[in-house]
Amino acid sequence: MSTFQELGLNNDLLQAITDLGFIKPSEVQEKAIPILLDSEGDLVALAQTGTGKTAAFGFPMLEKIDANSRTTQGLILSPTRELCLQIANEMKQYGKYCKGLNVVAIYGGSSITEQSREVKRGAQIIVATPGRMKDMISRRLVDITKIQYSVLDEADEMLNMGFKEDITDILSHTPEDKSTWLFSATMPREVAAIAKNFMHNPQEITVGNKNESTTNVSHEYYLVNARDRYQALKRLADANPDIFSVVFCRTKRDTQKVAENLIEDGYNAGALHGDLSQNQRDLVMNAFRKKQIQMLVATDVAARGIDVDDVTHVINYQLPDEIETYTHRSGRTGRAGKTGVSMVIVSKSEVRKIKSIERIIKRQFEKKEIPDGMEICEVQLMSLANKVHNTEINHEIDKYLANINELFEDTNKEELIKKFFSVEFTRFYNYYKKAKNLNVSYDDSRDSGRHSGGRSDSTRYFINVGGKDGFDWMKLKDFLKEQLQLGRDDVFKVEVKDSFSFFNTENELKEKVLAFFTDFKHEGRFVNVEVSENRGGGRRNDRKRGRRRDDRKGGGRRDDRKYNSGNRSERRRSESASKPRRSNSESSNAFKPRRSRR
Ligand code: AMP
Repeated sequence: MSTFQELGLNNDLLQAITDLGFIKPSEVQEKAIPILLDSEGDLVALAQTGTGKTAAFGFPMLEKIDANSRTTQGLILSPTRELCLQIANEMKQYGKYCKGLNVVAIYGGSSITEQSREVKRGAQIIVATPGRMKDMISRRLVDITKIQYSVLDEADEMLNMGFKEDITDILSHTPEDKSTWLFSATMPREVAAIAKNFMHNPQEITVGNKNESTTNVSHEYYLVNARDRYQALKRLADANPDIFSVVFCRTKRDTQKVAENLIEDGYNAGALHGDLSQNQRDLVMNAFRKKQIQMLVATDVAARGIDVDDVTHVINYQLPDEIETYTHRSGRTGRAGKTGVSMVIVSKSEVRKIKSIERIIKRQFEKKEIPDGMEICEVQLMSLANKVHNTEINHEIDKYLANINELFEDTNKEELIKKFFSVEFTRFYNYYKKAKNLNVSYDDSRDSGRHSGGRSDSTRYFINVGGKDGFDWMKLKDFLKEQLQLGRDDVFKVEVKDSFSFFNTENELKEKVLAFFTDFKHEGRFVNVEVSENRGGGRRNDRKRGRRRDDRKGGGRRDDRKYNSGNRSERRRSESASKPRRSNSESSNAFKPRRSRR
């Protein structure tokens, strides 16, 4: 293990490093810094947040730029405002002894005039979000034609957030011979494509394995009925009295709803999602940092900028749509050398995703049971007992002791302890005494593969809309949920083909589903739903249907009619793309933290 001195950093940087209290380089720093100092080439680094990657590209950039020149020489692109500010602050701290250095952050939601004024003063390094950067380039408020170093930070996230075109556009304004350093937690195909198209023979370094989760985090999953998801969340919180957690939901609406329910139920919770104003988000984050919020319920995008180091638990209230996102979520805990737990609440239909995630993160999940009511009562009781035991006596109480002693004159120590703890215990006991077991058993053989037979208690349907109509599985699921007014987990095993799709519901919803779609038009065309003869969505049958449907264009066959509405107008209509409405339009509610009471 080398020291920062051995990595070849100059005295200004070494002094700042000492001030910051960094003792030794982290793995990514040890690997990246010598490469970046010694060569002018490109670099791809696979590293998560919390590994010290800002300093890994920050120190070499600060070492290499000329702080006496006012020309912009380094550009760092990052996905969110929070991250952008965080990087700019770190760079300022790292470069505090570099005379003349000016690091400027440019990001949306703040005055563009003020930011361009700062740039004009002479910013050697600009840290920017892609949208605002592009805007400033097009208004000629910034000149990046002479940059020598560009960093794409959290490249996977930037692409996830749809910044590919902006990044391409921005890079087209930079010199061909600059060095590009790409940092990403995961390496999906899109990131590999960026590396291929915009970089020249990049060296590659990996901290841990690609996509791999940090070893400081243990992974657990809890199998419950979908309708018990929220109860399960509460029990996990109650079973961990000192929890300091980020709870991930899939949509903004679910995020808001879960946070509101938790607050209503007396937990210290807050919501963080894109429908909140910047001011509201800052309030929530400040409360979280101060630990006034113990459960921060967040969407993936909003949680990007969370730079809090001592999160004890990440709870996946719902799994992310893209399983690669799980790595980002679990990376919110186990930071800065601490340990953490990443919990996933799953219903039966999602268990197979756990296996896929295990393959990606190269770690095993432990299947755990949601604690029963009595376990929680015991945990809470012991937590309180420890707190009482460790509490320093406040002698302000002394003046009231005479009265208290008088009250307890006839109570012995054992009785007193029992009475004292009963106050808290009874609250939990009354709540949990009749609590049911939330765990469900799961027979692995029933779902050993995505297409391996259906659940006997579910119905599989054919629906005559698909990819051509603008649906992917998520949009179709949302569309069905919205139209049928179903809960999040009521529609599952959604498979979207080109011109048709399949999905499942529990048997009890069959009548409702079929009745709803008897005469249903979406954007002017009939949408037809039928029970599929293939209950589990077997691959062979699905493919067969694909052919039938496609063949139809060439004249139509008898079988084909089975999968159309049978209605003439339906057969006449064009296959124009129908755009499903998304169901997650939310209202933005201000955050209101409350003291714990349950
Ligand atoms: P990052 O991955 O860049 O977000 O860094 C995570 C946290 O680790 C930040 O708070 C850094 O200030 C801190 N950090 C970075 N490098 C080191 C180091 N070598 N030793 C201790 N802390 C570090």
